[in-house]
Amino acid sequence: MIKIVVGDIETSTDLLVIGAGPGGYTAAIRGAQKGLDVVLVDKEKLGGTCLNRGCIPAKALIHASKFHKEIQDWHEIGIEAECENIDFSKIMSWKDSVVEELNSGLKHIIEREGIEVMKGEARFIDEETVRVSEEHNAENVNFDKAIIATGSRPVEIQGIEFDNDKIISSRKLLNLDEVPEELVVVGGGYIGMEAATKFSKFGTDVKIVEAEERILQNFDEDIVDEIKESGPEYSDEIYTSAKASGFRYENDKILLEAETEEDEIEIRGDYILVAVGRTPRPVLDNLDLNNTDVEVKDGFIEVDDKLRTSQENIFAIGDCIGQPMLAHKAYREGRVAAEVASGEASAFDNQYIPKAMYTDPEVATVGMSLDEARKEFDDVLVGEFPFRASGRSLTINQESGFVRVVASGDEKLQGVQIVGSRASDMIAEATLALEMQAYLDDIINTIHAHPTFPEAFAEACEDARDEAIHI
Ligand code: FAD
Repeated sequence: MIKIVVGDIETSTDLLVIGAGPGGYTAAIRGAQKGLDVVLVDKEKLGGTCLNRGCIPAKALIHASKFHKEIQDWHEIGIEAECENIDFSKIMSWKDSVVEELNSGLKHIIEREGIEVMKGEARFIDEETVRVSEEHNAENVNFDKAIIATGSRPVEIQGIEFDNDKIISSRKLLNLDEVPEELVVVGGGYIGMEAATKFSKFGTDVKIVEAEERILQNFDEDIVDEIKESGPEYSDEIYTSAKASGFRYENDKILLEAETEEDEIEIRGDYILVAVGRTPRPVLDNLDLNNTDVEVKDGFIEVDDKLRTSQENIFAIGDCIGQPMLAHKAYREGRVAAEVASGEASAFDNQYIPKAMYTDPEVATVGMSLDEARKEFDDVLVGEFPFRASGRSLTINQESGFVRVVASGDEKLQGVQIVGSRASDMIAEATLALEMQAYLDDIINTIHAHPTFPEAFAEACEDARDEAIHI
């Protein structure tokens, strides 16, 4: 199709933000709060990956899939409820409504702050101009400062490329019309494991194929064991050290071909979900960065602690600048970049970025793992508190998991790992404690409300000094 560019309009702004995900929209709002005139460009919907096709829809579906476990819990405590049917299309509509509600809230805030939103794909013409194109229209935007927040895309496996039919990414998985009978998940990282968690609970027979020796390489082995032990049934079909190499169709099914150390295996599914990581590479290629001095190294834009690229007036934030590719890292970077762009002496000086994974049980970690601490310090203190000893846990009939704290010999907190029902909420206190350079004493002497989950964090700190009261 020939694209005709109608008119050649030109706009000028103090701050241009490219990409309206968690990084970009935060930067735009913060820039406007600081009095800058802001233009925010996105080729898709406001909210980016996280709101439209990542964190939010994924967690809504994980919540919906919990009915299974909750019904078992109710039976155990004497409530005889049965689930007769799940209406998957209604669940998907509810999930969409959650996304829509957050989307319209975001739109309202952006309008209130007087931010100009432009729909279209941005490409740099030079270090002060981008061209924003959509369909038959194109517009040049001149800027004093720009922030690149263009996110990332799922990595493809050569020979098993996405076809948006049976070989799919997480985006399509979150929009299926019906619960598949069988699902092959290639990649045992957090996106793959969260997908496995919810679909196995909806009744799908989930099989996980992981090239490394074990799933969830970024988490301690005992955490992974805890998930396998108390999590859903997919743990019976985890193929590790198995490299996905091809596929073939059989009737209406698709078979993933994989090579293990001993064998070649075939694993059947209605879909193959490829979740082997994300990369900003294709997104950056489309930006024409070669028309600026912005440098890209190993696939990521290089920035300093003020989020400035090698082109002085251009900043970059979020997934496109590196790991960990997480929304809360992007939020913080968006705030800092906008503040620096407005002339404030701000910097990304955070030392700790928590990670949360919504498997069953949930996992959340921050700071050093036990192994990392042992490599770093001669003397390491470890404290652990199991949720089976927590009054709050028992009152909701949940016993699995633990809180572990790792401290250096001088009792300074160095890391926290939590496995259990409210791990993703509990990690906030641990992150604050680490950022504030807390010692075990600081947590122990803080009164924690009773009965609550965070009491387990304080008791784990007590345990590191052999002083726990409830174990
Ligand atoms: P994005 O959110 O990817 O936004 C980038 C935006 O830029 C997009 O809207 C895109 O359309 C736009 N864009 C790109 N190029 C151009 C261009 N040239 N012109 C105009 N617009 C452009 N993170 C968490 O912290 N917690 C979670 O629980 C979590 N769960 C996830 C679950 C899934 C299934 C997935 C896929 C991701 C999840 N993430 C989670 C990761 C999180 O979504 C990302 O880290 C986050 O969205 C990155 O934010 P960003 O602002 O850098 O980019």
